[in-house]
Amino acid sequence: MPTSASHRLRKNHIVLTSHPHFIYGDSPEVSWGAKDPHKRGPIIASFTNKLHRNAIGSHSGSYTIYRALALAAGQMDPDHRPDLTNTDPVTQIGPFPSWYDADRIVSLDPWGHLVHKTFKKELAAGMDIRPTIAVTRAHLVMTELENAINQGRIFIDGRVVKANKDVAVTKAAIEPVWHLPGVAKRFGIEEIPLRKALFEETGGMFPELITRPDLKVMLPPIGSTSVYVFGDEKLIGRNDVEVTVRVHDECNGSDVFGSDICTCRPYLVHGIEECIKTAQRGGIGYIVYFRKEGRALGEVTKFLVYNARKRQKGGDSAATYFHRTECVAGVQDMRFQELMPDALNWMGIKRIDNLISMSNMKHDAITGSGIKVVRRYEIPPEKIPGDASVEMEAKKAAGYFNKTTGSMKKNELVKVKGRRLDE
Ligand SMILES: [Zn+2]
Repeated sequence: MPTSASHRLRKNHIVLTSHPHFIYGDSPEVSWGAKDPHKRGPIIASFTNKLHRNAIGSHSGSYTIYRALALAAGQMDPDHRPDLTNTDPVTQIGPFPSWYDADRIVSLDPWGHLVHKTFKKELAAGMDIRPTIAVTRAHLVMTELENAINQGRIFIDGRVVKANKDVAVTKAAIEPVWHLPGVAKRFGIEEIPLRKALFEETGGMFPELITRPDLKVMLPPIGSTSVYVFGDEKLIGRNDVEVTVRVHDECNGSDVFGSDICTCRPYLVHGIEECIKTAQRGGIGYIVYFRKEGRALGEVTKFLVYNARKRQKGGDSAATYFHRTECVAGVQDMRFQELMPDALNWMGIKRIDNLISMSNMKHDAITGSGIKVVRRYEIPPEKIPGDASVEMEAKKAAGYFNKTTGSMKKNELVKVKGRRLDE
């Protein structure tokens, strides 16, 4: 490392990434999928020593912009390094054989929660390696779960459901860490067009995508993933017990605020209830929650679509549900479930006994990643909110999985109407 490097990287001096002696000069190599984590190499996306960086982008997904704001506003020391004392995971997760397959996990760092222990030597040598996964415990207090207890569908066992009706969980937060060649392969495209699109469509935010093809890892500025585990945390990754899974894409309007135009919160809570039931039968349940608001189109697009749906001639109808989204957004859905199974593979899941989802895209992505799905369950019809029947019937007619109610013909779909905006 040039002795004057830190001096050269001083405050008001911007060093472009095309100067490899000042940035990425002492980068540890990354051999994605290597079994030995030291051979795989630590992922370094911190800025306290730019010479050590070996990844494009930065930590905390989209929140990296707030960090930049804090620095710009002079409210944060740019040289601050996290003190990781007592931050270790509350339970052991992995390593699993899926971690050593470069193609099986491409959008997260499987060693992300074990940084503190695994890369002790490198940390002691001054590398600012940061965890990209954290694992902790919590209690859930939800009215719907309390109702499920009162109605006898789940019960107080003192373990999963506590005496005061709290539900105990183990939970993990996962930051996106993309191995670009693997992500490209997952979508059946070449790495170069992927890098070019990521560069151009972010307004040129990450020049290394173009200037440094040798850097293969990127921490993209997108939302993270949360995993909620119900049952004995020692069963994580065990495939000799019953396994229930719901993979859920964020919907702030319904999940948090209870908006009744879609089935998201009822589906999420149904998934949680089924996970608790599985745990109470001696198995384990996983809810995997992805920050992909409004089918990854964002909430502004989503609200525009709501207006377009409800103001169209003839009113909101199941017959035109997907069409109105496509008119506004250009696509019906941008969630691309191709990367979703990585979180399941990180936890060593090989078989899902009960998949709580109607989505064929999710199902096909999971089975395509090598995980067996034994049974699929849709949301029970009585849990669908009033204004959400437009979405539900449109999805069923489009081929979403359902085994209880069947799907409608076109002439029936036009009769399924949502509320008007003035109702
Ligand atoms: Zn929703």
